[in-house]
Amino acid sequence: MSTNIRQQFACDKAVADRFNSLDQRNIVQCQYIWIDGTGENLRCKTRSIDFVPQHPDELPVWNFDGSSTGQAHGADSDVYIKPVAIYPDPFRRGNNKLVMCETLDNKKQPTATNHRRRCNEMMEKCKDQHPWFGMEQEYTLCDIDGHPFGWPKNGFPGPQGPYYCGVGANKVYGRDIVEAHYRACIYAGIQISGENAEVMPGQWEFQVGPSEGIQMGDQLWIARFLLHRVAEEFGVLANLDPKPIKGDWNGAGCHTNFSTQAMREEGGINEIMEAINRLSLVHNQHIAYYDPQEGRDNERRLTGHHETASITQFSHGVASRACSIRIPRQTDDEGKGYFEDRRPSSNCDPYKVTAALVRTCCLEGAERKLSMMYVPSQGKN
Ligand code: ADP
Ligand code: MN
Ligand code: MN
Ligand code: MN
Repeated sequence: MSTNIRQQFACDKAVADRFNSLDQRNIVQCQYIWIDGTGENLRCKTRSIDFVPQHPDELPVWNFDGSSTGQAHGADSDVYIKPVAIYPDPFRRGNNKLVMCETLDNKKQPTATNHRRRCNEMMEKCKDQHPWFGMEQEYTLCDIDGHPFGWPKNGFPGPQGPYYCGVGANKVYGRDIVEAHYRACIYAGIQISGENAEVMPGQWEFQVGPSEGIQMGDQLWIARFLLHRVAEEFGVLANLDPKPIKGDWNGAGCHTNFSTQAMREEGGINEIMEAINRLSLVHNQHIAYYDPQEGRDNERRLTGHHETASITQFSHGVASRACSIRIPRQTDDEGKGYFEDRRPSSNCDPYKVTAALVRTCCLEGAERKLSMMYVPSQGKN
């Protein structure tokens, strides 16, 4: 994209800063953030609060026009947003907050794309097992016309090879955005654990974790919000599609690393093998939870090529990147640790992924049976 178009969208940051530094007279700006009817996109709006909130329960339940977000019909369009987690706001700074919300319908029941409610119930049931997650969010930077950032407008960059963890202006594109996002996450209190340039040029990854229980989903959604918001400042898009470019280019996933306390302790490898055995019995059900299109998005990515396993066959292996589940070399050596589920798509809902993992691996009896039956969600999602 030309500099001109970018400036047109960016406005003038120097002028904006004069106003951003005005005294805000004890008003706290709370940016309410929620997942819309697509199950993948975020929406946000701000409200003024006259105290400094310490806990999400202190903040008012609010509402929005669900007919404009694919979450309600025009005649009965109010959808409630209920604060569930708060974080310091790296854009407005000071006492201002980012507020993760869940969406509720007019009967105060979860809407079709609110998977947090069920996830939280699962996490509460197995909290004694201290489930930890680490999610690796891959994404592709694009110009606002959708073209991969830094790619020649007519043609393709050289073949994959030099770009993964690369350095140099001809290897990686958009590092300013990655650096700004990393700091924004740290400021907001997200447990971001790293970043790296990916195999396809213009593609990057950041990791969040290990985070316990429901915090994994809350933090990854906020980290995604920060990514879109930071990229907006640069006039660039963060694309979470699992296979943005067809052909001999890597897709994007959201590998999910998982452990319970028992897996992390002496002899934990036995727990890990038991979990993998359980996962092998419900492969298709998990695939249906691992992207917003119940497997159809991941079909384009899980081809058995480009460091993926086939979508139709469950597999596991030590240090293998061509398997559904990878046991890290170190876990195998030490006989304890964690495993990596490589199946979740880059645009997955982390609430659905983490809930499916604990249902299958941590719950017993009737509760676990739920994971054996795939219940299609209502509505679009
Ligand atoms: P990869 O080698 O697959 O690229 P990364 O280093 O990108 O792995 O990501 C590994 C993730 O696993 C990180 O988010 C890290 O915090 C997380 N992790 C580390 N130990 C554990 C554990 N015991 N349980 C769950 N997640 C963990
Ligand atoms: Mn990684
Ligand atoms: Mn990766
Ligand atoms: Mn990985």
